[in-house]
Amino acid sequence: MIIPLPCPFDKVFPSQLKKDELFFMQLAYNQAIDAWKEDEVPIGAIIEFKGEVIAADHNRTVQTKDPTAHAEMLVITEAAKAIGDWRLNEARLFVTKEPCPMCSGASIMARLGHVFYATKDPKMGCLGGAFSLQGLPKLNHMLTATGGVYEAECTALLQAFFKGKRIELPM
Ligand SMILES: [Zn+2]
Repeated sequence: MIIPLPCPFDKVFPSQLKKDELFFMQLAYNQAIDAWKEDEVPIGAIIEFKGEVIAADHNRTVQTKDPTAHAEMLVITEAAKAIGDWRLNEARLFVTKEPCPMCSGASIMARLGHVFYATKDPKMGCLGGAFSLQGLPKLNHMLTATGGVYEAECTALLQAFFKGKRIELPM
């Protein structure tokens, strides 16, 4: 019998007093832990707007059987609904892994102000890791990105998930 490995990591409880980049990324990290508990790849995302979290979610590709259900796509949709506008210029996305081509593209299309990510992805990351989609020469929206926020913790979570994704019980 094969069962998902229980998540060995605990959520963090950052102080509400200092709502800085680390604070928001830690909330995204908590979302990633929820993803693991649902046997999804542990990537979490939140969107901050005027100092408040207006969207929080995590990967749901397995449960929804939807290849577009990445954490970033889900929070972009949620944030647009919350603001009531598809333009998210003043919003900032925090995600625990560098966005893939699809999510980097969606961030540009949503006109997000800034993307913070934790773990760099040299294979699929399109905000500096493998490619810089925001550097397309004729874009009229300038997206900026910062990697490496809360990187060690988010990377450890991903690595542990892929290393021991499933444990086999003698049955
Ligand atoms: Zn993606």
